Amino acid sequence: MVVNPQPDELLSSWVHRLSIANGVAPRAFTGEFGLGGGMWSARLDLRPPRDVASWLGARTGKAREAIMAMTMMDEALRPLLLPLRETARRSRSNWLQYCASCLADDRVPYFRRSWRLASRISCFRHGCGLRDRCPACRGGIAHFTQKDLISQHVCARCNFDLRDSAKIPVEAAARRLERSIDDICKAELAKSSSAIYEWVARLRRVPVVAGLGSGRTLTNLPTSSRIRCFQLLAQRADGRLIVAENTAVIWRREIAQNAGDHHGLIARFVEFIDEREGSLRSARVQPPDVDLTGLLAAYARAIDRRSRERRGHDAGWPETMAA
Ligand SMILES: [Zn+2]
Ligand SMILES: [Zn+2]
Repeated sequence: MVVNPQPDELLSSWVHRLSIANGVAPRAFTGEFGLGGGMWSARLDLRPPRDVASWLGARTGKAREAIMAMTMMDEALRPLLLPLRETARRSRSNWLQYCASCLADDRVPYFRRSWRLASRISCFRHGCGLRDRCPACRGGIAHFTQKDLISQHVCARCNFDLRDSAKIPVEAAARRLERSIDDICKAELAKSSSAIYEWVARLRRVPVVAGLGSGRTLTNLPTSSRIRCFQLLAQRADGRLIVAENTAVIWRREIAQNAGDHHGLIARFVEFIDEREGSLRSARVQPPDVDLTGLLAAYARAIDRRSRERRGHDAGWPETMAA
């Protein structure tokens, strides 16, 4: 029996659903292509065995490209992937997050690729915070250990239905910041820009800017701490918008005053990063360091102003922007 991949679905999630639909426990099913043990889900998404796409393609009729698009093999975003851990200590990150409302809305619950990224803290659709562990047993998501015919929305350790997890609130400003970061990542990936590497490296260090995590990178913090981190950044940056006299500030003023459209703002932001990269390569003296927090906040405020102006009469505006 063939099941169709869902939008943004992780390869391991699709394989889990495939195995259940065919009456084979996931662990036994993945043993067929040499992935039976340990954290097979995470390994499959990161480093699928060479012939796995052909094996799956031959049995499901799905194109190799479609199967590989479900992996997390993108070089540029790899530093933002939440690390694999055997144990789920409370103070550390876990490899996979989820939105209980998304799982509850799904006809057959499935896990999204975006839930693997440390830069994601909330659900763009439901506005609530993501979770990175089961609220009942506090363990991380471990459906790779599932030896029975049980769907992924059930905790493999304690059988809690993850769809019943309580909603976690996230401040609107933090969600706008997250959305801006995500937009920029997508824009940079779409144009295969080398600026994405610098951008991602900066994102990993934002807990330091927020004064959280004792020097740990974003990928090492649990979702609850990353939500706190984004909320602090959004608050702090708000009061620091127009401070110093440098290129970044001029750009900030311009963008905050300009109610250009959403895509225009992203394009300008990307141009700014590109310009800075160019000047770093050519200049003998390095330009002043760009304040990532201030730039993002300016971007978020411009988006916010724009959404307030347009609220109520623009059905095409992303829902989280109007929050
Ligand atoms: Zn959701
Ligand atoms: Zn549990």
